[in-house]
Amino acid sequence: LFLFGSLCAALIALHWSGPTFSEESLKGKRVLVTGASTGIGEQVAYHYARMGAQIVITARRESVLKEFIKKCLDLGAQKALYIAADMAEIADADRVVEFAEKQLQGLDYVVLNHIGSSPYGMWDGDVDFVRWLMQVNFHSYVKIAVKALPALEKTNGSIVVVSSLLGKMCSPFALPYAATKFALNGFFGSLQHELAMKQSNVSITICILGLIDTERAMKKIKGYIDMPAYPAHEAAFQIIKAGALRQDEAFYPWYTFYLTLFRDWFPYHRDQFIRTVYKYQP
Ligand code: NDP
Repeated sequence: LFLFGSLCAALIALHWSGPTFSEESLKGKRVLVTGASTGIGEQVAYHYARMGAQIVITARRESVLKEFIKKCLDLGAQKALYIAADMAEIADADRVVEFAEKQLQGLDYVVLNHIGSSPYGMWDGDVDFVRWLMQVNFHSYVKIAVKALPALEKTNGSIVVVSSLLGKMCSPFALPYAATKFALNGFFGSLQHELAMKQSNVSITICILGLIDTERAMKKIKGYIDMPAYPAHEAAFQIIKAGALRQDEAFYPWYTFYLTLFRDWFPYHRDQFIRTVYKYQP
């Protein structure tokens, strides 16, 4: 028990120590944020705007993005532009990066955050949907990252990938979504190694989020699981901070770090516990 306690204390100290974040450091930075028309992406855009960054936001709904541009400028963004794009369309990923690079004359941060809408509940066996969601939630992330890398190399830039605890731990009711998040963690985690080995100056931050109180997430889980949801504006702040500090991984809220850390210690009890947390009547 003593050893376990000491280990936990050391891990907590390690987790909370490190360089400090200055919002000032993001003033004038050129940022692309995907999935910025609602939820966490919207909050990410507002934080960057408040910190005086130059931002390009993207999502499918042009009318919503247009509205947000005004708000970003009011909040203090040095520049705020939007481009409507559908990440189910292969060409749109390239188009978005080209637009952002041209309009901002370079890129410092790319925040990959969008997700396609997916059902919650027992998997219905729809393989075509899995393929479609892979395109939106995974392939488009890869495409954007590859396209943006040369520009980010020039600026000591960063890619920030918004992922999920469901990409670290298997659980029911969101199979296609979880598959896309596992794919993201695997791809970008491996890319971190390759970039470091090549001595690239681009950093990749993978953000592992637990349940966040966005409108869509709250609607989805209703009736399936009762657990506290954490605020989207705080999740967005932690995402930006982790990217600015060039952390490899970031966890929000706090419990996601410990669940990931102890994930494989007692697999039988872990799985029994997970199955009791979700409500289901066969
Ligand atoms: P939302 O569903 O609220 O927002 C998704 C965003 O993606 C919207 O801006 C939407 O805009 C855009 N989008 C949807 N489909 C497409 C498409 N085909 N092409 C381009 N853009 C699209 O998501 P959240 O804010 O809840 O989640 C944001 C990120 O955080 C995601 O990566 C998610 O996996 C992660 N996360 C969220 C959690 C939560 O509990 N909320 C928990 C763990 C991780 P539009 O409809 O206008 O296209």
